[in-house]
Amino acid sequence: MSNLFDAQVLDVRHWTDRQFSFTCTRDPGFRFQSGQFTMLGLMVDGKPLLRAYSVVSPHWEETLEFLSIKVPDGPLTSRLQHIRPGDTLQIGRKASGTLLTQNLLPGRHLYLLATGTGVAPFMAMVRDPEVYEQYEKVILVHGCRQVAELAYEEVITRELPDNEYFGDEVRDKLIYYPTVTREPFRNQGRIPTLMQSGKLAQDIGLPPLCVANDRFMLCGSPEMLRDTRALFDDMGMAEGNMSHPGHFVIERAFVEK
Ligand SMILES: Cc1cc2nc3c(=O)[nH]c(=O)nc-3n(C[C@H](O)[C@H](O)[C@H](O)COP(=O)(O)OP(=O)(O)OC[C@H]3O[C@@H](n4cnc5c(N)ncnc54)[C@H](O)[C@@H]3O)c2cc1C
Repeated sequence: MSNLFDAQVLDVRHWTDRQFSFTCTRDPGFRFQSGQFTMLGLMVDGKPLLRAYSVVSPHWEETLEFLSIKVPDGPLTSRLQHIRPGDTLQIGRKASGTLLTQNLLPGRHLYLLATGTGVAPFMAMVRDPEVYEQYEKVILVHGCRQVAELAYEEVITRELPDNEYFGDEVRDKLIYYPTVTREPFRNQGRIPTLMQSGKLAQDIGLPPLCVANDRFMLCGSPEMLRDTRALFDDMGMAEGNMSHPGHFVIERAFVEK
């Protein structure tokens, strides 16, 4: 069996001139855990052109959703941004990734810290009832340059609280904190700065960050990952992985070339 499967595009949404999302069919044999990524791409000159993509959908969803950047001269996304319903995508059968609660030590609060398309894996997690079972509060912080890039804001604030299966948990436990850096908005500033200054905890009404109670998942730009990690190192926190659960786990939202 090939390590890729064909998926038909069902729907495409363009959020801005830099960002779009799409849904596609899911091979019934494709298994993944909420928060994981897989390879995704298009056939180009008879060969698959693939890139890593986090799955936006939770593991139980029948279709698959992805959120994508548009890199003007990017080998894949200069093409992918033109897909339409009915087009065929190539998707890797093997999902992987570190953004799993089993890689974290037990805690009370789970912080999901994302910039840009890094929100993709966390959209899967905030729709996974198993995540709410493990924490008293789940805090999704999404940093973007512009307000229009705050993809899924409406899904988070309007649809999730009304979900017939896990709406109660969302209303009780999910805290959403969008923040913007280059436009006026109700919350402004970079994630590491908001954490270091104590403003984030103050704004959401939780105690100051604490090694005993708080666990973190990070997915974002190299700068956000570097600066947030430095803060965690100063607090004496350890990075978790499959063999040693820790206080935080990190996934890159993309790689600088
Ligand atoms: C583990 C992992 C998960 C990923 N998940 C996603 C995802 O869910 N959605 C997504 O759009 N991309 C994701 N990426 C990045 C993705 O693999 C590609 O880099 C992206 O689709 C662009 O492909 P490209 O061929 O057009 O350009 P590339 O040649 O791959 O990238 C060109 C340049 O564009 C910039 N860039 C690439 N991706 C991004 C991005 N997401 N945000 C901001 N700048 C970027 C970087 O500067 C990069 O050097 C992920 C990468 C990794 C490693």
